[in-house]
Amino acid sequence: MNPEERYSRQVLFPPIGHEGQRRLADSRVAILGCGATGSAVVSLLARAGVGTLRIIDRDYVEPSNLQRQSLFDEADAAECLPKAIAAARKIAAFNSHIVVEPKVADLTPANVDELLTSSQLILDGTDNFETRYLVNDWAVKNSLPWIYTAAVGSYAATLNILPEKTACLACIFPDPPHGMIETCETTGILNSAVNFGASIAATEALKILVGDEAQVRRTLLSFDLWRNERAEIRADQPRVACCTCGLRNFIHIAGEGRPHITLCGRNSVQIHERHRPLDFVELGDKLRPHGSVRHTDFILKFWREPYEMTLFPDGRAIIKGTTDTAVARSLYARFVGS
Ligand SMILES: [Zn+2]
Repeated sequence: MNPEERYSRQVLFPPIGHEGQRRLADSRVAILGCGATGSAVVSLLARAGVGTLRIIDRDYVEPSNLQRQSLFDEADAAECLPKAIAAARKIAAFNSHIVVEPKVADLTPANVDELLTSSQLILDGTDNFETRYLVNDWAVKNSLPWIYTAAVGSYAATLNILPEKTACLACIFPDPPHGMIETCETTGILNSAVNFGASIAATEALKILVGDEAQVRRTLLSFDLWRNERAEIRADQPRVACCTCGLRNFIHIAGEGRPHITLCGRNSVQIHERHRPLDFVELGDKLRPHGSVRHTDFILKFWREPYEMTLFPDGRAIIKGTTDTAVARSLYARFVGS
């Protein structure tokens, strides 16, 4: 297919034009988290012709994702395909002229350099503040723009962070939220709120990539689609006393206070402090007498009532059926190793 034809309608849009389209083709963007927001953002950027997209996601496709995670289908869920892999396959089917680098990984202080270096822009598709503050630290430290986007219920919020030029995430929210945080798991979510936030973030990404920085929005924008309520908070100046961009104290990169075991989603625990390459064939044989086992090249699933353990090749595990980290840890030690 002729690329001229593929992007012809976008090139006609004057702020992009031929030069903008060339810049998009030469761009490298990292999308962190490929759930609802990540799917929508990455799909738009892939169709727009962003040359290299690195998709980083720690999870696999489940039936409850299909209501809003627009890159996935029933076959992906049946196969428990990692989201990064499923996304790369879908994108290849509609734009084989760009490069997609799927990374099945949980972003941590230990791998943040390896996973984000070489990208020129980072887009947030995560569902947790732990990862967002890590990205904020890393982006400010390396002077790389990133775009925060969150959606829950019928509400979406987004902020462009241009280090040294605008406020960073920690300028506006000095501390990660504590206590009860609304999430898709507790409050639910409308797919339209996701796509609304993703559309704004993807458009801001295009402005940054083609170099139209004057048009980049410098506010924290939030919009509740059900109530038709819109709010904007100024974010056009870094805060002098900000611990991150003012004092350059990058505590999240240092990994301070970071738990090794985290609750992830409803009724499940992630164990990610073990780094041990797993041989799924060998482990499958070992586990079979204790429950049912199924594995692909990408994940191994082990069911033992009332638990379901999902293992990744690097030793990471998601254990469903408990919110008790001690129970999860002991199941891991017993069936995988301590
Ligand atoms: Zn700041």
